[in-house]
Amino acid sequence: MTTATPAPRRKKGWMSLKVTKIEDETWDTKTFYLEDSVDNGCPFDYIAGQYLTLRFDKIAEKAVVRSYTMSSSPNQAGFSALTIKRVEDGLVSNWMCDNLKLGDEVRALGPIGKFCFDPHKMRPHLVMLGAGSGVTPFVSIVREYADKLGQEGAPKQMTLLVAYRSKLDLISWPDLVAFNKVPGVRIITTLTREDARSEGFLHGRPEIPMLKEVLAGTYADSSYMTCGPEAMMEQFVDFLKSQEVPAEHIHLESFGN
Ligand SMILES: Cc1cc2nc3c(=O)[nH]c(=O)nc-3n(C[C@H](O)[C@H](O)[C@H](O)COP(=O)(O)OP(=O)(O)OC[C@H]3O[C@@H](n4cnc5c(N)ncnc54)[C@H](O)[C@@H]3O)c2cc1C
Repeated sequence: MTTATPAPRRKKGWMSLKVTKIEDETWDTKTFYLEDSVDNGCPFDYIAGQYLTLRFDKIAEKAVVRSYTMSSSPNQAGFSALTIKRVEDGLVSNWMCDNLKLGDEVRALGPIGKFCFDPHKMRPHLVMLGAGSGVTPFVSIVREYADKLGQEGAPKQMTLLVAYRSKLDLISWPDLVAFNKVPGVRIITTLTREDARSEGFLHGRPEIPMLKEVLAGTYADSSYMTCGPEAMMEQFVDFLKSQEVPAEHIHLESFGN
């Protein structure tokens, strides 16, 4: 796994963050913008790809905690943002999407995590595979580095292959479309349950034939990151190993709590 040096935090321990904006991403996904409840702004420093742990004391008999990756990036001053996708029968994701409103406060611990671009250990081409809500760390990473490609501390090139079920499920879509126009950034979207090839989408799961096509020519100079369903990540890792990509250039984040 990656071992990026964490940025110094301005705040440590549990914080109280106020919801300052809520955006509907898709029919089942919302983005919540958070600021310090007293001083406004983002009260902590973070690296793109890190997450917060939220604690809710009153939505169940016992306190519950869940982790959510920032979909915002550190270069977006003044707030952090979490993008939450409803999980069927899931307690916290549905509670947040149904009940959390402007001005509410959430308790958050962080930032936590090492699923980040590490300029000292990773190769110049960063290749990312995400699916569903697993796109959030990659949205943050693309936001952070798209205008810094080739500069010190940033990758030279980024490729993101992202899988959504259908056009109704396109999380962070306007931003991904815009980033795809940046030289050095390539964003490829596949729809697993809808055929929209005439509109430029790939069709089907990111399985071996698609990986071969999309990743051809990347193996010698790339580091790979993936976040999504376990089966997808396992297949990706097996495929990369079959292409002799060293294990230290393959990084996974599991969203299972
Ligand atoms: C590092 C990290 C980062 C993450 N980032 C994000 C992110 O950016 N965005 C995002 O949307 N999610 C993210 N997640 C996932 C998130 O933390 C939650 O797991 C997710 O929101 C589901 O939580 P929940 O409370 O809604 O569901 P839970 O209540 O935890 O339920 C999850 C599933 O388990 C089933 N289940 C629950 N209890 C039982 C039971 N007793 N028996 C059988 N089945 C059961 C439910 O039916 C449901 O299908 C992240 C997770 C991690 C670890």
